Amino acid sequence: MKIRVGFGFDVHQLEEGRDFFLGGIRLPDAPHGAVGHSDADVLIHAICDALLGAANLGDIGLHYSNKDPRWKGMDSTFFLRDVTRMLHERGWKIENVDCTVALERPKIVPHLLAMKNILAPLMQIAEEDISIKATTTETLGYVGRHEGVNAYAVALICRD
Ligand code: MG
Repeated sequence: MKIRVGFGFDVHQLEEGRDFFLGGIRLPDAPHGAVGHSDADVLIHAICDALLGAANLGDIGLHYSNKDPRWKGMDSTFFLRDVTRMLHERGWKIENVDCTVALERPKIVPHLLAMKNILAPLMQIAEEDISIKATTTETLGYVGRHEGVNAYAVALICRD
């Protein structure tokens, strides 16, 4: 059996008065939202890059360019479903993903279950195979100043 690990990292700027999409849900009562060509879901983008990296299929920018009008305002759940399809076509099965979101506010812990609920079927894995952790940066840097949000993800995939 072949086992591969992949890593993904993504950053988006935050702007007041925008909807904040994270992990496939819209965060209620967020003071700001992420800016991007698509819906700017930084967590899904990091997971997509981890999966693409594990399968050595490039990165999210290669497959869904932010210059391509097709992806303008796109719901990022589409990207994750599509990346999963690419992996499955090559015989890969996703084992688990582990993620960290670095964000000062709002607190995302109350919403983790709802995110896993959305993400699990997109990757065709169980919710228990998705870990999402949250951290602040102790007010340091652009995350600490509420100017941006970071997401990190690792993914394990396997095939016979
Ligand atoms: Mg992104």
